[in-house]
Formats: sequence, structure tokens, C-alpha cells
Amino acid sequence: MLGLRTGEKLEKYVKDYVVFDLETTGVSPLTDAIIEISAVKVRDGQIVDEFSTLVNPKRRIPYGASRVNGITDEMVADMPVFEEVLKDFIDFIGDDILVGHNIHEFDMKFIHRDCEAFFRLFLGNDYIDTLPLARKCLPILGHHKLTDLATYYKIPAEGAHRALNDCRMNQQVFERLGEELKNGEKPLKVCPRCGGTLKLRNGKFGSFFGCSSYPNCRYTENIANETK
Ligand SMILES: [Zn+2]
Repeated sequence: MLGLRTGEKLEKYVKDYVVFDLETTGVSPLTDAIIEISAVKVRDGQIVDEFSTLVNPKRRIPYGASRVNGITDEMVADMPVFEEVLKDFIDFIGDDILVGHNIHEFDMKFIHRDCEAFFRLFLGNDYIDTLPLARKCLPILGHHKLTDLATYYKIPAEGAHRALNDCRMNQQVFERLGEELKNGEKPLKVCPRCGGTLKLRNGKFGSFFGCSSYPNCRYTENIANETK
């Protein structure tokens, strides 16, 4: 909801929320524009409604962006501009808590910027960023991109980098992170060679544990040996 203050970043699990994701013309929340916005509404851990639309950014989409998300100038030519879409999005989210991956540093900045520019008001919804949450819950993982988390939890990652697919994927990730929060922190594995910590990594031949002091320490361990 729009109001006189901006929502706060929370770090906890909630069972009712809206997961959202943006695709943009580039990586700068100062100068780039939104070309797709998607969201899924969740009640009691289950998706009950979806919102998704392409957006006409009124400018060319750089080739680099199209290559990542597959969205082209032709696809957005007849789509509504973001000022219209943002109104519908704000109606859709109501006063729900927002959830998304890396939204504190990225997506929220676009949304806050455009709410202020279009409506001269602030988006008051509190939000939960699954990136710092994943770093806290899964220190054993070497990387915490959304696809890394999907791989770790064996969630199908087809159609990644289109906003609605990423929302559905992240919804499942958030539910799993909620279970991690409930179960408490897992102990880190210690490198027997240098005393550093072992991180779970994805290699050509599947996942393995590697020393976080790499390349100074090249100790690795198979997961198969671990579960024997
Ligand atoms: Zn080591």
C-alpha cells in the first residue's frame, strides 16, 4: 500500500505473503527500466493467485538484457507502461509482506523509485529478502543465487530468468528456508587440511564439498563419501 513511509526489511518466515520478481533493461536501479513484473500471492504456504505482465519501457531493450530473459522489443511494443501496471501491482499486493531474491539491493529500489516518481508516495509494505536469509540459513552453500538454492533443494529450475517462473521457484525456496529457520543453524563442516570451512559447490560432475580457502587450499570431499 502507498503511504507516507517506506516498508522495512524483515528477516523471518511468514505464511501469508506475495513473492515478486522483475525483469529489467539492465542492472542500475537509477537508470534502468522494468520490462516484466510478476507476483504470486501465498496463503498458508500455498499459491492462491498470480499476477504477471510484460511492460513497455518506452526505450530499446539492450541485447544483453534480452539474452538473459528472452524479452524483446517486439514482445513489449503493445504492452502497458509501468505507471499503469504499478497501480495494478499495488492493488494485487494489498498490505501483504513482499518476498523476493536480492530485492533489498535490486527490485525494491526500482519499485520505490517509481512509486515516488509516479505517485509522490512511498510503498509501505514490509519485505523479506531471501538472499540474506539463505546466506544465514545455509552458510554451507558456496553460492546463493536463486538457481543455486533451487539445485540444493531439488526444485525444478526450468524457465529461470522469466519473472513468473522465478516467483514460483522462490516461493518453494522461501518455504524451505522457513523450515531451516525452525530447525536452527546447521553446523559447518571443517576442512581437515587447513581448518577453514567446507562449502557445497556445484561442479561439472555434480555437487561436492570444497574448501573455502581455495585456491590456497585445494581440499575437496565427495558428498557420496559423506552419506555412506
Ligand atoms: Zn582447506
